[in-house]
Amino acid sequence: MALTHRQTKQRRALLDLLRSTKSHPTAAWLYDGLRKNHPEMSQGTVYRNLSVLAEQGLVQVLRSGSAQDRFDADTSLHYHVACTRCGRVDDLPLPPETERNKAAEALSGYRITGHRIDYYGICPECLSASGSSGS
Ligand SMILES: [Zn+2]
Ligand SMILES: [Zn+2]
Repeated sequence: MALTHRQTKQRRALLDLLRSTKSHPTAAWLYDGLRKNHPEMSQGTVYRNLSVLAEQGLVQVLRSGSAQDRFDADTSLHYHVACTRCGRVDDLPLPPETERNKAAEALSGYRITGHRIDYYGICPECLSASGSSGS
């Protein structure tokens, strides 16, 4: 299945947009951002291109239970913290615990290629918006 020039251009634009932000956007956010310069791009195209980029290992998909998938152009092993109130996701600069992979390998017999740890809580903005009414 050969790629048309237009498909390649669209996928590049999507990757560029994702690389330009640290906000771990949803597909809907990316679609919104692309529409200005690529009005011909449909939401379906954006979703399809995102799964192709994920298969190629160029983006990582953050799945967080009930919330929408989010996307990250930083494919290195790093952790995320998500706000349970507003849904915002930030990078968490903790050192990657690669020794966990070895321990998991020993226990499971799998060849472990990665692991995921999700932190969640209430972000500073939501904390200050709620004031001191909490406790
Ligand atoms: Zn928040
Ligand atoms: Zn990230």
